[in-house]
Amino acid sequence: MSLSWRCSATDGAARRGVLRTAHGAVETPVFMPVGTAGTVKAMTADAVRATGARMVLGNTYHLMLRPGAERVARLGGLHRMMDWQGPILTDSGGFQVMSLAALREMDEQGVTFRSHLDGSRHRLTPERSVEIQRLLGADVTMCLDECTPFPASEPVAADSMRRSMRWAARCREAFVPRPGHGLFGIVQGSTYPALRAESVAALAGIGFEGYAVGGLAVGEGQPAMFAVLDCTLPLLPASAPRYLMGVGTPADILGAVRRGIDMFDCVIPTRSGRTGRAYTSRGVLNLRNARHAEDARPLDPACPCPACTRHSRAYLHHLIKAAEMLGPMLLTWHNIQYYQDLTRGLREAISAGRLDAHCAEVEAGWAAGDAPPEDNIGDDPAAAALAEDREAPL
Ligand SMILES: [Zn+2]
Repeated sequence: MSLSWRCSATDGAARRGVLRTAHGAVETPVFMPVGTAGTVKAMTADAVRATGARMVLGNTYHLMLRPGAERVARLGGLHRMMDWQGPILTDSGGFQVMSLAALREMDEQGVTFRSHLDGSRHRLTPERSVEIQRLLGADVTMCLDECTPFPASEPVAADSMRRSMRWAARCREAFVPRPGHGLFGIVQGSTYPALRAESVAALAGIGFEGYAVGGLAVGEGQPAMFAVLDCTLPLLPASAPRYLMGVGTPADILGAVRRGIDMFDCVIPTRSGRTGRAYTSRGVLNLRNARHAEDARPLDPACPCPACTRHSRAYLHHLIKAAEMLGPMLLTWHNIQYYQDLTRGLREAISAGRLDAHCAEVEAGWAAGDAPPEDNIGDDPAAAALAEDREAPL
């Protein structure tokens, strides 16, 4: 039996459920930390697990270039390499090809590009993307799609979406069914409701184990993103999991869960951790700020992570200012912990039928924090994703 999802409770449009995969069951709504190049940066697999995270994401583009998909397969697959026993979702590589690779040439069959690492020439087709994800050992494989630029005119967005739908059919054909594994289709169509509806109909006609809403978190802003979810999600099959790719801030996640999204990934918690930013129950704190230099309080008294239970804001500030490795490690741990606690709280609130009240409490906590307004800038998922891919290796 392929990967499956079962709904266990609803509250309004929000859903709680369980995703069953070859590497275990995961409760949804779920936030998946991003393990770009076969590691969640600055975290051991045990540390990721200790936050409550049960599913992570791997990047096809980065892994196909280095160390190479065939090599990962010879070494026992991505789970074995990372020592990660839980499920892994891999993206298709398309997003990074468009945002990172040099000399991209797109045609009906696929995309040819040069590696940003050494200039070597590579080709990604729907069939090859699915094959790479199988070699990596992904529990959830994503269809290769064309990332429609934002903004795009309606005719451009329509052509791009229709090519992605043709590619989705080829991905379905290329996918080798295996127990506990599944293939997700990706809804495109930019901000045009009619195109989103056409895309949903095309994907539902092919049939997938899950559906992602793509082409968001590309700079359109939260109101436009929520508007796309409002017109897209009611059209999707209710029995399948729904994944919002590359999103987002805690506030994005609250709004998307309330609209019926089940799965998320984003570089924001890990990337922000490495740059000294902490997401807390009282808003965002920038640990670089000198006002933390002698602050003996914990980062977030409500958080069970080592950064909060064993250290002060002053020490974390010192580590970040001194560019010590432990600073990014502790803040990454904290941010992933915060995202896991946030999604666990949402799951429990859905089961209890008090999601609206719970979200109001969470938002009141953020508003009650003492962070100055300037600490709250810079958490745009699109900017974070681009910065993540262009970051020089340590
Ligand atoms: Zn913490």
